[in-house]
Amino acid sequence: MSARGPAIIRNFNRFDVLHTIRLHDNQISRSELAEVTGLSQATISSIVSHLIEEGALIEEGSLTPAIRGRGRPLVSLRLAPDYMYVAGVKIATHQIVVSLTDFTGHILTSENISCEPLELTASRLAAFVAKAVRGCVKKAHIDLTQVSGVGVGVPGFVDCSSGTVYWSPVFQTRNIEFAKLLRPKFAAPIFVENDANLVTLAEHWFGLAKGLKHVIVITIEHGTGSGLIINGSLFRGARGIGAEFGHTKLVFDGPPCQCGQSGCMETHTAGFAILREAQALGFPIPSKKLDYHARLGLLQQVVERAENGDQGYREIFQKMGQYLGLGIANLVNLINPERVVICEGAVTCSHLYGDAMRSTIREMVIAPLKDNFDLLIHHWGDEVWARGAASLVLQELDQRGSLPMGFPARKAAKRRRRSRAS
Ligand SMILES: [Zn+2]
Repeated sequence: MSARGPAIIRNFNRFDVLHTIRLHDNQISRSELAEVTGLSQATISSIVSHLIEEGALIEEGSLTPAIRGRGRPLVSLRLAPDYMYVAGVKIATHQIVVSLTDFTGHILTSENISCEPLELTASRLAAFVAKAVRGCVKKAHIDLTQVSGVGVGVPGFVDCSSGTVYWSPVFQTRNIEFAKLLRPKFAAPIFVENDANLVTLAEHWFGLAKGLKHVIVITIEHGTGSGLIINGSLFRGARGIGAEFGHTKLVFDGPPCQCGQSGCMETHTAGFAILREAQALGFPIPSKKLDYHARLGLLQQVVERAENGDQGYREIFQKMGQYLGLGIANLVNLINPERVVICEGAVTCSHLYGDAMRSTIREMVIAPLKDNFDLLIHHWGDEVWARGAASLVLQELDQRGSLPMGFPARKAAKRRRRSRAS
């Protein structure tokens, strides 16, 4: 084993312990921790002592003696909410969502700020993001120095290891080192990640995929995004760009995609694809450049026409369901998930494409898998971004191990110990 081996193992065990407590609604005993993580009682004791000393965990008397029967009450462990604060940012084509979350993932503040990132250069957007985070942190009455990390979600092809955005509908140009632009503005570490991966983490830590080992998450809004949980972890691939389901290819010489290629999945399943199909039916779409709200308004009108029984418009969504079903069936055959979660954004239309999607999946998934996964549809709100960004930052920081002395979370723990002592 290399000299770094034991430290790495310790950090992963540390992450396992913290993550297990989160998955158990922030209340678990040492013996339950050992049982769930498979670590020995001695290892759990050592990690827990460390985490209590650091200020990350709080020990409490059992709140459930009645169900445990007589005898010595179990001591339960909880995450200390103020051990760490995390700022989250989601950059969309029409707004920036900023949030502040504590160590348990509880959202303290969240704000939606109208903004057209495409109108800004990348460095001006970085300045705008920094200002928005400062404003949000101030609103929560927290000092910026108490923020331990900032997670930023961006749609498109994002290399999370370097924070480089190779392509995104929110940037005018390609290959932007966005984390590098943000770093000088914050003392805390910056993590830039694909936005669908943030949704996936939020579903895995707090939502419909909580604690599952193998999950496919598909996001449907202006584009079609995806994230994969494989063996209990977010799958990112060699360059951190996986998993771009929306840009898997369906047809040769298909319709042009936002990414610059053609025939991608999202050219049949995303909001812009629905508008293109509606336009072919004669639905009026202005030729001028449309902003997000104008596109959303048009999409809602198309949904209403289908809901009102117009056959042509109903077929647009049925076709969307078939393509989506085909793509999901391929993913299910490839990965063998326990669950598929579809997350819908501002426009809800699963009642129009759902049947076609499910029957296509049923037809195309290989026989042994047909009855061995479920499919859930989730209509998300902006809180999903806050929780996803928090999950990302907490995961990165938890895995790094204990924080250096003087780091915000340590200072918070010291303050807490001082205030308890006084
Ligand atoms: Zn594409």
